[in-house]
Amino acid sequence: MEFLPISWRLQGKPALLAGGGEVALRKGRLLHRSGAKVSVVAPQVCDELREIVVQSGGACLQRAFAPADLDGQALVICATDNRDLNADIAAQAQQRGLPVNVVDNPALGDFIFPAIVDRSPVLISISSSGASPVLARKLRSQLESSLPARWGRLADLMARFRQPLKAKLDNIGARRLFWEQALDGPLVEKVLAGKDSEAEAMLSDAIDQADASRLSRGEVYLVGAGPGDPDLLTFRALRLLQKADVVLYDRLVGKGIVDLARRDAELVYVGKARDKHALPQDNINELLVHYAKQGKKVCRLKGGDPFIFGRGGEEIDLIVAEGIDFQVVPGITAASGCAAYAGIPLTHRDHAQSVRFVTGHRQDGTVTLDWQHLVSETETVVFYMGLVGLRQICDQLMAHGRRGDTPIALVSRGTTDLQEVITGTLESLPDAIEGREIHAPTLIIVGSVVSLHPKFGWFKP
Ligand code: SAH
Repeated sequence: MEFLPISWRLQGKPALLAGGGEVALRKGRLLHRSGAKVSVVAPQVCDELREIVVQSGGACLQRAFAPADLDGQALVICATDNRDLNADIAAQAQQRGLPVNVVDNPALGDFIFPAIVDRSPVLISISSSGASPVLARKLRSQLESSLPARWGRLADLMARFRQPLKAKLDNIGARRLFWEQALDGPLVEKVLAGKDSEAEAMLSDAIDQADASRLSRGEVYLVGAGPGDPDLLTFRALRLLQKADVVLYDRLVGKGIVDLARRDAELVYVGKARDKHALPQDNINELLVHYAKQGKKVCRLKGGDPFIFGRGGEEIDLIVAEGIDFQVVPGITAASGCAAYAGIPLTHRDHAQSVRFVTGHRQDGTVTLDWQHLVSETETVVFYMGLVGLRQICDQLMAHGRRGDTPIALVSRGTTDLQEVITGTLESLPDAIEGREIHAPTLIIVGSVVSLHPKFGWFKP
């Protein structure tokens, strides 16, 4: 992050604007809206700016800038039409430790102005860190059109009920959950529809009935995070992830996804690499129970889908036994994700009528599978955890009757920016990748559908 976005209380504070034209006016309006006491220094000051100065209680200094103009100011904005003068004033202000903005040269100053969506008291500021103001403005117009004007009313209503809720619930976590539930309910619609008094009555009833022990009961969310690309999360996964007090995540969960958790959530890495267990499964199960019993909302994030080679069943077993509430959220499993992003339809009327997901994980050095059931020419077989056993998989499939020229694909780090797809045949692929560095996780897809990859492979990271 090149800049820290903060919200600055300027009410009643003196701010100096150097410049009296159109550009200065735009900043003057903003300063005025935030309640600052605006002073302007410039040989010529436009009428509206002069009016702002009068209304805000500042001084209109219609002359050239003088160093003493900086005395007592809380911030300075250089908005004259003279670049050298702007730079000079900025340098003097900085020497005095005053925060300064230079409109035509953001690099010279300490802060920049974001684009703003104003639904006071809700304020959304959007900044591209100076990289592209046009992009920031585009985002702003998208938000402007999708955020009803009454959002501010909703925030005002919530502010009015903060104290009554505090009196009812002294636990801060319970209060947060109360608000989250309230915002998930019909309250928002009432306010947005302009039915303020009904909304108020509804909120007041809800506070009367708020029950701390029910609100702060622990719960476990077993959530599928998909194969890697954060865009493949479901809405439900995102909602529960943002509700959780604790997030336990795997090695397979994309970094961008863990970042979506609440900022104050506790993040616990319980990742497993093959043969390298960060935490034994039993400990993970116990941890889930431990946090839930403390009354926490626990999100167990798993790569792909929790119920497909994800040990989801084992993890909820103990939770069920302990009588803890839980939810399971499906995710896009690696087979679907990798196949889609590699342009390999898992079924296709001309190629495969069925698809099978199997694990290629080796136990004691061998892949033990029901091989005779994996050799139908009209079935696609997807191997999870199969890279290390790849040669054995190919040999066994051929030994049990699958043709040596059957196409096979290896998808490494599927759906991410580092996705790599390597194709070959059962006969050729093991030799072809010998000695090549292939990054985990990898998925193996076997079957005639793989021949469609050159035509349908659309994702080129
Ligand atoms: N529950 C997960 C699977 C966990 S088993 C799911 O539904 O996807 C772990 C195996 O999944 C890995 O060894 C690999 O075979 C596969 N896998 C998971 N994410 C992958 C990805 N982004 N690219 C390729 N394979 C992946």
